[in-house]
Amino acid sequence: MFTSEQNSSCHQRLGLIASLIALLAVSAWRFIVGADWLVNMLLAFTLSGVGLLLWFEWRKLRRVRQAYDMAMLAAHDGFWEWNPITKELRTGSRLLEILGYQHDFLPDTHAWLKLVHPDDVAPYNKAVAEHLKGKTTYFYCEYRVRASNGSYIWVASRGIAVRDRRGRAYQMVGSVIDITQQRNHQETMEFLAQHDELTGLPNRLMLAEKLSQAIEEAKKNGLRLAVCFIDLDRFKNINDTLGHRAGDQLLQNVAQRVVANLPANCQLFRQGGDEFIVLMNSIPVLSTALTAAGQLRELIATPFSSLSADFFTSASIGISLFPDDAVDGETLLKNADTAMYEAKAAGGNAVRTHTPQMNQRLLSRVTLETQLRSALQNNEMSLHFQAQVDAASGCLTGAEALLRWHHHGQAIPPDQFIPVAEDTGLIISIGDWVVDRAIAQILEWRHLYGDIPPIAINLSPRQFWRPALSHQVLRKLRAAGLPTSALEVEVTESVLLHAEAGSLDELENFRESGVRIALDDFGTGYSSLSYLRRLPINILKIDRSFIIDLTSPKESATSQALVSAIIAMAHSLSLKVIAEGVETPEQLGCLQELKCDVIQGYLISRPLPPAEFSAKFLVDRKTLG
Ligand code: C2E
Ligand code: MG
Ligand code: MG
Repeated sequence: MFTSEQNSSCHQRLGLIASLIALLAVSAWRFIVGADWLVNMLLAFTLSGVGLLLWFEWRKLRRVRQAYDMAMLAAHDGFWEWNPITKELRTGSRLLEILGYQHDFLPDTHAWLKLVHPDDVAPYNKAVAEHLKGKTTYFYCEYRVRASNGSYIWVASRGIAVRDRRGRAYQMVGSVIDITQQRNHQETMEFLAQHDELTGLPNRLMLAEKLSQAIEEAKKNGLRLAVCFIDLDRFKNINDTLGHRAGDQLLQNVAQRVVANLPANCQLFRQGGDEFIVLMNSIPVLSTALTAAGQLRELIATPFSSLSADFFTSASIGISLFPDDAVDGETLLKNADTAMYEAKAAGGNAVRTHTPQMNQRLLSRVTLETQLRSALQNNEMSLHFQAQVDAASGCLTGAEALLRWHHHGQAIPPDQFIPVAEDTGLIISIGDWVVDRAIAQILEWRHLYGDIPPIAINLSPRQFWRPALSHQVLRKLRAAGLPTSALEVEVTESVLLHAEAGSLDELENFRESGVRIALDDFGTGYSSLSYLRRLPINILKIDRSFIIDLTSPKESATSQALVSAIIAMAHSLSLKVIAEGVETPEQLGCLQELKCDVIQGYLISRPLPPAEFSAKFLVDRKTLG
């Protein structure tokens, strides 16, 4: 960039040269031709005219240059002028100001290139070379330049070459603008698009990119990679009972803990909701991925004490392997997801590796789900009743209503369809149907046989997520004109695991209004015995697995001691004890000795359709033989 002083001296020089030439011409004329005064006058007149003209021109030019200089000073852009032959560089004061350098700091290309970010030198040189060769109409490049304070600023530079008649560039002029803010904003937007706001983890968009890169790398180097699909168990439960803030906090805690303990070559992504993906690069054998996934499972299952209350969660993890399982990212993810579902179906807190059979199982599960959706409308559901009898007298003390599904002549066991109903939320309408059906059955039997013992229905934890479950059931009982003692509810320990909020209140409400509560499958969950004291229950049902072991040659001593302790403890808490799954007279004898209150199992009766149950137990109250 020229300064204004340089411009004016240049014009003065021009004027001086013109005057000298004119003077020389006059002197030469006089010397050669000789001249009288008239010629002298004419010459002097012409000379002053030329001088005046030159002076006007020079003033005009000076004004234009001054305006040009002022415009450059005032302009936001920094101007530059470069000679591609000598490499000489002239920079305007604005450009130096943008970068924070002194005058004459950038004499040539070499000095300039030293300031360009190493990663940007190549694209910058390429853009210059292409324009000099005439391949581009303009030179344009966005790159980083080191400012005087050491930081890099983003600039956009645009220029054009001035060429001679042969097209060779002998000068290039252009401007530079500071686009740092714009680039930072763009980078922030890009970051936000590729990261999850809650946990700060890279999101599924980034995962897709990284996964395909990782696959390419693995292909090139002949290595394996593993996709680990992590899903938190019962997370919906936490969200629904403790609120979304607690759920969010748990997700953040899980993310932080996993990131802090990630094995080498692994990266964590948030897939969405309570799903996370760990991408494991350079896996030599499957067992490496399995070990790492096992560690992640343990890590997540360790209580989170940083939250307002101690928080327990666990994860179901599915693994799929490249290239063994699939060779593209989408299928790898899908297979890992399927394997994760298998881990969940096994009760959660487990790791599973994908196998081809899993896809088949998934397909039958999807079919089951479709069929289940129309089961109620098609009248395919029914209730069977299993007797509960007094262990000492054999008198009927109650019955458990158990759901049955017959689809096209085939009986599908509850253990198969209840989890599907729970996952899909269908358990809500199915659960409502069970309540209605049980109440209708009680009414019918009361009408026929008078006062009958209570009938127990099973309530799934998922049903407690809906507010006011107890009120709905109680309203139905009232509408039918039944006492609350006519119905019992059975719940498993899992309903109480996250019972800090809603479900505990629901149970309290049931018990206070006179509906008795049985804790089902006791001993299979994690509840400690002392935990039982806090729970609003009336009955404890010892799980069948303990009863089987009571008379087995190997386990009998331990099992008897355990069952005896459970019964004693339950009695001390004034709870009635029911033994589930009693199949043999030996088991019955043992339970009678241990002072168990009630017996339920095939020894007494299998679950029966209503008519058979009433014929066997209600028409003439039978006693145990
Ligand atoms: P549960 O509530 O523990 O029910 C007892 C299960 O043990 C029943 O299986 C019953 O048929 C079986 N059982 C009873 N006595 C014996 C025995 O002596 N030997 C053996 N091997 N089994 C015996 P079922 O009917 O297949 O039900 C399985 C589970 O499905 C139930 O376990 C319950 O958790 C669930 N379920 C059943 N009906 C419903 C329902 O209406 N709603 C909900 N939410 N769950 C239900
Ligand atoms: Mg039950
Ligand atoms: Mg049970």
